[in-house]
Amino acid sequence: MSLTLSRAELVRTANFIDGQWRDDAEGWLAVTDPATGERIAQVPDSGPAQACAAVDAAQAAFGAWRRVPARQRAAILKRWNDRVMAHQDDLGRLISREQGKPLAEGKGEVAYAASYIEWFAEQATRMNGEVIPAPMPGRRMFALREPVGVVAAITPWNFPAAMIARKIAPALAAGCTVVCKPAEDTPLTSLALVLLAHEAGVPPGVLNIVTASRERTPAVVDAWLDDARVRKITFTGSTPVGKHLARRSADTLKKLSLELGGNAPFIVFEDADLDAAVEGLMAAKFRNGGQTCVCPNRVFVHGAVHDAFARKLAARVGALKVGPASDPASQIGPMINVRAVEKIARHVQDAVAQGATVLVGGQRLDVLGPHYFAPTVLTGATAQMACSGEETFGPVVPLTRFDDEAEVLAAANDTPFGLAAYFYSQDVRRIWRVADALETGIVGINEGALAAEAAPFGGVKESGYGREGSVHGLDDYLHIKYVCQGQL
Ligand code: NAD
Repeated sequence: MSLTLSRAELVRTANFIDGQWRDDAEGWLAVTDPATGERIAQVPDSGPAQACAAVDAAQAAFGAWRRVPARQRAAILKRWNDRVMAHQDDLGRLISREQGKPLAEGKGEVAYAASYIEWFAEQATRMNGEVIPAPMPGRRMFALREPVGVVAAITPWNFPAAMIARKIAPALAAGCTVVCKPAEDTPLTSLALVLLAHEAGVPPGVLNIVTASRERTPAVVDAWLDDARVRKITFTGSTPVGKHLARRSADTLKKLSLELGGNAPFIVFEDADLDAAVEGLMAAKFRNGGQTCVCPNRVFVHGAVHDAFARKLAARVGALKVGPASDPASQIGPMINVRAVEKIARHVQDAVAQGATVLVGGQRLDVLGPHYFAPTVLTGATAQMACSGEETFGPVVPLTRFDDEAEVLAAANDTPFGLAAYFYSQDVRRIWRVADALETGIVGINEGALAAEAAPFGGVKESGYGREGSVHGLDDYLHIKYVCQGQL
């Protein structure tokens, strides 16, 4: 299947620096379809020269962009949103092709990404400062909000459009300029979004994008880390890379937003609506084939309802249709690469070796291709198993039986991560007690689908810091300047 879109120019195969498409990198990076392994395009495998050229352009553009009136920046972002939605089908196809998710999910991601662009277009006009009542006579005191400067955005492959929009829209709304390095597995969606931003009127130099392979990425990002002109890093990805960026940012004291790994607990109490809990878990767990940082990774079910819940869940999971994005019936696509499938298989094997039982699934689906894994439900999971300690990032639900609220809260919080947590209960007193006790940045109560442009998304503990979306999402791209005026 070739990569055919109704608008062929959306497939860009060059870096975008200072308003120009440039393919002067030394090598090429192949982009493949995870469903088939077929090579669909190649993009530049960039290095420090391209990284520096991008910062030169972003720094040169910053002075003028920050002074563009907020209403005008908002209008450009609004046009970007409109163009993204006008190309929803093509962009959805591009996402599905390079990332593997079913087409309906690809198109859904485009709308989700656009919702952030629209939200931050609106927020751009509400970047109010403060007038502070002066504690002494003859002074006027102000707190002004200013853009931090050049922002480096580094994104993962699991939501190639949404991750770009969640970072770049607030940066541009705030008046920052951007250099971006998208994930090596999914560069095409990001390049298409940058084209549409350019067409919407984002001026040359304001938004620059540089693609690179996994091997050459550190050279690109190190150039940005070492460059004092880059004032902020915004990163979504794994915790080890996030920690590396934090360490390497220390010399130039860059501002950082880190959206890192999770290990979300999902708790079903004995007073839960079991059917709703099954639905919530299906929505939270199986979106994007389980390759979502807020996916439930450990599912705790009260002993009184465990067997009934497991039965209902296994029936739903066993009915999921696995297949390529090109088949409209597919609900679970291929995993992103062989590394990902091998990790999932290792987690299931380890759990079974330690006494877990496979209720449904449990194996690779090699008949479909090397990147497929069957949606799986395990019972008898324990804290010692790899699937409990590490993020599986795949379609595997390990169930653990519990009997007591205090015991399950201790287990839920017994992880270095703190991104999302979910629980199902009908008891109002328990609801607020448990929501208070969970050590995460996001809590879902009787709800499995939580992300929204108006809500703050981000973690605590080793899941990172900073928030994306909501009124707080803009603050990460601003600093506060105190201005004091004395007697004239
Ligand atoms: P990753 O950390 O390997 O890669 C993320 C990005 O970092 C990619 O662009 C990659 O090229 C880049 N990168 C890799 N090594 C680097 C280095 N040494 N220096 C600089 N940049 C480097 O993660 P991934 O495999 O792409 O994504 C999966 C992980 O990301 C999971 O752990 C998941 O939980 C996490 N994630 C978190 C969120 C969130 O919002 N918190 C969202 C999506 C994914």
